[in-house]
Amino acid sequence: MKTVSDLFGSRVFDDRTMKAMLPAKTYRSLRETIDEGKPLDSSVANAVAAAMKDWAVAQGATHFTHWFQPLTGITAEKHDSFISPAPDGGVIMEFSGKELIKGEPDASSFPSGGLRATFEARGYTAWDPTSYAFIKGKTLCIPTAFCAYGGQALDKKTPLLRSMEALNKQALRILRLFGNTSCKRVVTSVGPEQEYFLITQEMYDRRPDLRFTGRTLFGAPPPKGQEMDDHYFGVIKPKVAEFMEDLNEELWKLGILAKTEHNEVAPAQHELAPIYTTTNIATDHNQLTMEIMQKVAARHGLVCLLHEKPFDGVNGSGKHNNWSMATDAGVNLLSPGDTPYENAQFLLFLCAVIKAVDDYQDLLRIAVATAGNDHRLGANEAPPAVVSMFLGDELNAVLEAIESDTPYQGAEKMQLKLGVDVLPRFNRDTTDRNRTSPFAFTGNKFEFRMLGSANSIACTNIMLNTAVAESLKIYADRLEGAADFETALHEMIQKTIRDHRRIIFNGNGYDDAWIAEAEKRGLSNLRTTPDAIPHLLDEKNRSMLTAHGVFTEAELHSRYEITLENYNKTVLIEANTMVSMAKTEIAPAVAAYTAQLAQAIGKKRAAAAELACGYETKTLCRLSALLDQIDEAAAALEAEIGVVRAVEAVEPQGYAIRDGLLPAMDTLRAAVDEAETLTAKDAWPYPTYGELLFGVR
Ligand code: ADP
Ligand code: MG
Repeated sequence: MKTVSDLFGSRVFDDRTMKAMLPAKTYRSLRETIDEGKPLDSSVANAVAAAMKDWAVAQGATHFTHWFQPLTGITAEKHDSFISPAPDGGVIMEFSGKELIKGEPDASSFPSGGLRATFEARGYTAWDPTSYAFIKGKTLCIPTAFCAYGGQALDKKTPLLRSMEALNKQALRILRLFGNTSCKRVVTSVGPEQEYFLITQEMYDRRPDLRFTGRTLFGAPPPKGQEMDDHYFGVIKPKVAEFMEDLNEELWKLGILAKTEHNEVAPAQHELAPIYTTTNIATDHNQLTMEIMQKVAARHGLVCLLHEKPFDGVNGSGKHNNWSMATDAGVNLLSPGDTPYENAQFLLFLCAVIKAVDDYQDLLRIAVATAGNDHRLGANEAPPAVVSMFLGDELNAVLEAIESDTPYQGAEKMQLKLGVDVLPRFNRDTTDRNRTSPFAFTGNKFEFRMLGSANSIACTNIMLNTAVAESLKIYADRLEGAADFETALHEMIQKTIRDHRRIIFNGNGYDDAWIAEAEKRGLSNLRTTPDAIPHLLDEKNRSMLTAHGVFTEAELHSRYEITLENYNKTVLIEANTMVSMAKTEIAPAVAAYTAQLAQAIGKKRAAAAELACGYETKTLCRLSALLDQIDEAAAALEAEIGVVRAVEAVEPQGYAIRDGLLPAMDTLRAAVDEAETLTAKDAWPYPTYGELLFGVR
């Protein structure tokens, strides 16, 4: 039997494999490229490609692909086989350094948000040596960035790598000010916790809404939902346990550090958390995890739903982005250290995050804006659409003391001026109690909780890294020129706390009163995707993101277009699916059932004229009325679809959806869901919520 350590990373061309298979000199050059971003010369690329191919072929691979993350939100691959004709009529397996480094997929079928019109259809993929190649099925997958002919990013990896570089650059400036001369690189790390639902394939197949849109568009509440809180951390059902075991093995083979799994709050809902790693790799791994989850589920006769809100009235699924910054020596910059110097440094990095989150609340909201996630944010289970931060009592007390220049009265006395006492370690248990905060400090990292389960974590981390880089840049600019470093540092920390106090909120984020209070504080509340996305192009955001070289103006504009277009298309598909279900299955089913009732009444009365037929008559009347409502609401929805389609520009189209289409969908749903509760189960065309949510044993 293979042990976990045999299995782990067995399908990855990782450091161990590279060391074993590459000539020492080649290995060293490659490491320099990976660790320090040094350019790779072609002889090294050829040697790496040859070793990669030999390793992959020995594992049964026949093809290779550049694996990338276009703006569709999922990953893309185009397979080429290694075969090359040999003079003797046979084939040899070949793979060159050129093929490793650069690919040329046709970019014209991927969204470009206008970039394509301005530039050329051709696109390039470029090897990202910082993320290891791996084998999926029979294909060697090479993680790559994806750009247009003119170099404009058409993917999520390119700006993510740029944002990591921006943060690295500014964080190093700060570390130098604190006398650190040895650190070569600061990286951000992420551990994304992933929620998902599992239902049976058999029931999934019977629901066109799930098949076409990933969520149920109709469905009356089940007699039992999540009100008993008996699912969270509950015993895992055998079928689910088998799935998880299989999933872990597949993820481990790919070098993904799947660590924790448990049942979530809603029935049929589960969570998987990996051990954190560098943001770039964590992002690749999270994309792979979502893909593998769906594949493994299929092997078990299950379907894994990654939609943010598959079931109305039941908790939706999110993703928690645990984020921190660390030096190449492994020092976590969000962890207070053992010396006052380290503590002042910690406070400065902490303040950089506070300032970043307050100054760029809108960008964090934008990063998670999708049609699916709009159902969660603001409903009473996920954080609201308002971004705020939770720091915990201890840290709050420290910041308050600094703000008012009074000594901190915690476990140990602390004054900020360097050379004074030591900060306490912030215990996770005391800081992690507030689960309703969108952005919580959890001891030595921040947990951003607004992400939707299907979101790529790239978008969030691009914004977070760059916004923090911006705070650090402002700090470094000021401190580098300061005559008295300690005084300037103290003033700056104090100023940050004073200026950004409004973003800190320690109460219940799910409370309506908070939304009113947040408004008073001037925090932004961008409820829906069409409300949020236009702010991507606000002057303050554009100038910040372009100044750090993370996006060009053209790239920003393309992302604005694509995100809105995606929202509009998603909701339009949902609306069309509803109309089709209502007209071709639901209305006919209700019509047939009411006819049955009418017949039953007729038969009974024929047998005994004095029979009241109370139940049948009441149900018949109500259902007939509902049938007419369904018919009218479906027609009204069709009309709204027409209205929305007639609008051309993405932004006004988004508003038309928000203001007209979504309410029309709600009206149709209300009538259908009531009809479901009155119709005999056998006469209803779809599995119910109860069956879907409690169907897996
Ligand atoms: P919680 O109870 O808040 O969910 P866990 O300890 O279970 O916290 O960790 C949740 C996630 O946070 C895991 O993926 C973990 O690897 C990750 N994590 C822990 N420390 C860090 C860190 N310094 N930077 C980024 N992620 C981290
Ligand atoms: Mg968590």
